[in-house]
Amino acid sequence: MQTVSLASYAADEALSRGRRYEEPRASYRSEFHRDRDRIIHSTGFRRLVYKTQVFVNHEGDLYRTRMTHSLEVAQIARTIAVALQLSEPLTEAICLAHDIGHTPFGHAGQDTLNTCMRDYGGFEHNLQSLRVVDELESKYADFPGLNLTFETREGILKHCSAHDAKLLGDVGERFLQRQHPSLEAQIANLADAIAYNNHDVDDGFRAGLLSLEQLREQSLFETQYIEVHERYPNLEDRRLIYEIIRRMINTVVTDLIDNTRRAIDAAAPQSIDDVRKAGKTLVIMSAEVHEQHVSLKRFLNEYLYRHEQKLAMTRRVQAIVSDLFAAYMEDVQRMPLQFSQATTRKDESGRARVIADYIAGMTDRYAIAEHERIMA
Ligand code: MG
Repeated sequence: MQTVSLASYAADEALSRGRRYEEPRASYRSEFHRDRDRIIHSTGFRRLVYKTQVFVNHEGDLYRTRMTHSLEVAQIARTIAVALQLSEPLTEAICLAHDIGHTPFGHAGQDTLNTCMRDYGGFEHNLQSLRVVDELESKYADFPGLNLTFETREGILKHCSAHDAKLLGDVGERFLQRQHPSLEAQIANLADAIAYNNHDVDDGFRAGLLSLEQLREQSLFETQYIEVHERYPNLEDRRLIYEIIRRMINTVVTDLIDNTRRAIDAAAPQSIDDVRKAGKTLVIMSAEVHEQHVSLKRFLNEYLYRHEQKLAMTRRVQAIVSDLFAAYMEDVQRMPLQFSQATTRKDESGRARVIADYIAGMTDRYAIAEHERIMA
């Protein structure tokens, strides 16, 4: 059902390592298309609309949310996958699901929940994304979760400790054997960073937290600034910024495609297993662009994510998450029946995990409303 011919080292659905529960094949969709469609129909995916990327949902209507972030990641990754004759639907499925286990309130939410879970195995949003698609979505009569293919699950799990890898079975193996995932997964991973680096410049500028002068100290930005400014000297700031951003994305993506092509030629993998055993990732940028990309990432970390205005919000949301966690630990009946019942006959650690699943699934505004209700 692929319309373009795939490279021999692409993920080929005919050679898929399959689903956890066997199912008859779909008549008009490939297995990876089906994975993508199941993700789009999932509850976890819909919740991303109201989950923070950088700006808390109620701070403004035009900022990225986890949902629009995921769509931008998918859009960037699909271009790269097609250019390299890799599986576009698999790449898209991995991108759409990559943040499906994210907590409300972005990284502040994730870090706080991790602290709350310190004595109970911790909380990690990437691992949670796999948990959502494997176990927590309950929609289908025949199996728990979305029953996705191995290749999509492998792509969702970006990193994992040796301890967790042992518990995860097939998708954990590569971390113990020091192998890499498919090229489709490697693309999704880098497209994530390309997407946020660029949309966070846009959002940070829109919010007035980043200035043109500051951004111009970044060579990735400055190179495009000079070109755009020379060609359109009278462009107003908003259009100027966006024109620069689209050129930055194009620069990084083009560089990535060209360099990955070279890396693939040099390693000459014949199959997806050769990719997994290549000993290094093959989806790469040139050293120069990579350095600029990393520099922009560091810049955003320092000036946007840790901006005083953001930190004030961070402290507020930390209190919300830790208050909720403590309140449910004290009395599980404060959670909806489905969750309080799930704690029956569980030890403290098991109860904490159910609570973490419940909190992680909340949207920003639901968490705020629950907090107000419980603390009233
Ligand atoms: Mg992401």
